[in-house]
Amino acid sequence: MSRLIRSLVFFGVHLPPSLDWLMREFRLIVNKSVRIALTEDVRTRYGLTRTAYPQLSAEHRIYKQYIPSAFEVATVALKNYRRRLRKGFSAKPPFVKRLFFTAENQAYHLDRLTGELRVPIRAGEAVVLQLPVSQWHRDFLADESWSLGALTVTPEKVVVAVRKEAPPLFQPSGAISLDSNEVSLDGVACLGESARLVNLPFSEVRVIQSTHFRRKRHLRKKKERDWRVRRALLRREGTRERHRVRQRLHRLSKGLVRIARELRLAVILEDLKLGNPSGRSRRNNRRLSSWPRSQLHFQIGYKAALAGVPVIKVNPRYTSKTCPVCGETKGRRERVGRMFKCRCGWRMDRQLNAGLNILNTALASSETLARAVRFQPGALRNDVVIPLYDLPGSLGGAREEPSGVDPIPPDAASSNSGVG
Ligand SMILES: [Zn+2]
Repeated sequence: MSRLIRSLVFFGVHLPPSLDWLMREFRLIVNKSVRIALTEDVRTRYGLTRTAYPQLSAEHRIYKQYIPSAFEVATVALKNYRRRLRKGFSAKPPFVKRLFFTAENQAYHLDRLTGELRVPIRAGEAVVLQLPVSQWHRDFLADESWSLGALTVTPEKVVVAVRKEAPPLFQPSGAISLDSNEVSLDGVACLGESARLVNLPFSEVRVIQSTHFRRKRHLRKKKERDWRVRRALLRREGTRERHRVRQRLHRLSKGLVRIARELRLAVILEDLKLGNPSGRSRRNNRRLSSWPRSQLHFQIGYKAALAGVPVIKVNPRYTSKTCPVCGETKGRRERVGRMFKCRCGWRMDRQLNAGLNILNTALASSETLARAVRFQPGALRNDVVIPLYDLPGSLGGAREEPSGVDPIPPDAASSNSGVG
């Protein structure tokens, strides 16, 4: 079981001057601790507590629990610094410039209903802040299974970490295997012996990206002579673009995880971290970055963990070149068009084909999954691709197992993107 952590971020909180003072004191303590740790060769938070606490506690009239939090920040900074030195890079001793402070959960008090946050300053003195609690925040705060973690305050925002143990993963009765492409996830959903080709489009993302690309190009030209304004405008443009894309991906990942949970499917994706398999170099060299795909995988990962949906990542090697029917790895793409063709006569859309291979790889490596899914790629030869959200309650729909669910006419399926 793993622990899930989310950050609840609150913007636009009015901070009284005493918190500004607190942030400055905190920064000072962090930097002093770094200096002490370097001169005394202290490497742990515990070591810092022994060597530096008495001095810092005497020098700073601050609520005492902030001092160990500052030690924590200092220890992390020192660890990174020492790692860089070990690897032979040049590195300056860490020095914190940013204004902020952190507090452990026993140091502050948050009223989970009203969003009233009580932050201690020094013994007998505290400030009360009103956090602007949105419905999204409320969902977490009202759910007692999320316990409160560390608090971080910067001049711009207040961040409250919440955490809980991940629920146990269910035993999958099937799998959904998806190849991650630039504007869609494509692959196959299997439940027992039935299988359907599925497609999750996110073509809106491409539209957003090219709109912002044009706007950025325009800005770059228009503000050619004023780099400060140019930088500020471009940065704002980039933030907007990321927010808009992220929102589209959230709808998608939410829908996918919901369906996986309802049908008890394991989600199988390619491991994007595993290098740049030769068949895909062209894709990765695209002008539009692969950021949406990694972002999408990240979202699917944490939503699945929350819902108890198992996620399997497989090495994408050869998935675009292999024939899922005969196993030949010299298959080729038609020069024109989107089809994958094999000597054995197998033909399939190349993105869907990669999805089938990803499933095969996962089945070969997981016995549990292989017991649940009997996958016959050949049976999909003439199948229609359906949007994920049209998957019937039992995958068979009309074809394999009459279950009372109305079959989906292919034309209705293709006209209804069904993103919900
Ligand atoms: Zn073949």
